[in-house]
Amino acid sequence: MAETQKKIALEEHFMAPGFIEYFNRTAINISPELFGRALDALQDFGDRRLAAMDAAGVEKAVLSLSGPGVQAETDTPTATRRARECNNFLAEQIAAQPERYAGFAHLAMQDPAGAADELERCVRELGFSGAMINGQTNGAYLDDDRFSVFWERAADLGAPVYIHPYNSPDMPYMYHNHPELYGPLWSWTVETGNHALRLVFAGVFDRFPGAKLILGHMGETLPYQLWRFDSRWQIANRGARRLELSPSGYFRRNIWVTTAGVCSNEPLRCAIDALGAERVMFSIDYPFERAQEAADWFDAAPLSAEERRLVGGDNARRLLRL
Ligand code: MN
Repeated sequence: MAETQKKIALEEHFMAPGFIEYFNRTAINISPELFGRALDALQDFGDRRLAAMDAAGVEKAVLSLSGPGVQAETDTPTATRRARECNNFLAEQIAAQPERYAGFAHLAMQDPAGAADELERCVRELGFSGAMINGQTNGAYLDDDRFSVFWERAADLGAPVYIHPYNSPDMPYMYHNHPELYGPLWSWTVETGNHALRLVFAGVFDRFPGAKLILGHMGETLPYQLWRFDSRWQIANRGARRLELSPSGYFRRNIWVTTAGVCSNEPLRCAIDALGAERVMFSIDYPFERAQEAADWFDAAPLSAEERRLVGGDNARRLLRL
């Protein structure tokens, strides 16, 4: 009989009023049927969501807007204003269920200094646990120097930044004639893993050693590749790039991963063995994954009792200060 672990889950999505138009841009990536079902679940903060959490043994869900949100907004003042509205809306939902919900800030990265201020407001005033950023914003990735002001503030606040998948700024030719590959099946993994590697190799974690990055989907395949990153970095065409640590060193100092959207033992063992049990955290990706399936899988996964405690909730409690 599998032990049931009281869990924290932290890639759990919602939809805020007025944000469906942005969310509709994700419709090209998933089936219309799932999209419609998800929309109902995303807008519920009551019995339906709580019942799914209870059945899965999730005592607290860290909620985040289902992307891309204002990152798909082309007008910066609008993005800034609406991100703030979204965060205030989420704060109201958390206040109604403070034992069960926590939150990640939604930020208008079009204005990096403004995003830093909003992150600080969300953490200090609204009690949020960090931020979730949906990949690139108008073609800008977070290793760009314009975001240094943001990383500095996030590091000072001790606030983790969760990079959630979204589409690349353009559709690479390698997906031509393969719409099934463009989206969560594959291209989001490539896009998000690449985003994280940009941060590592740009030296963001040398400049901000206290910065904390979270990746979903068991680390977007990166834990599997650590040895090769270290090995090929030795002979890479580096240009002027220098790093204080080996690439894998940043994964073991600055990066955490969640199980969101991956209910499978082999990548779980790989993530734990590569990064350490203290860097892996249970998550579901509700409502795009079934909470019950994720919980049943995790409760029976081949983990020691200590690993199950850490991954199931203790790591998240510590990292997110829940
Ligand atoms: Mn997700």
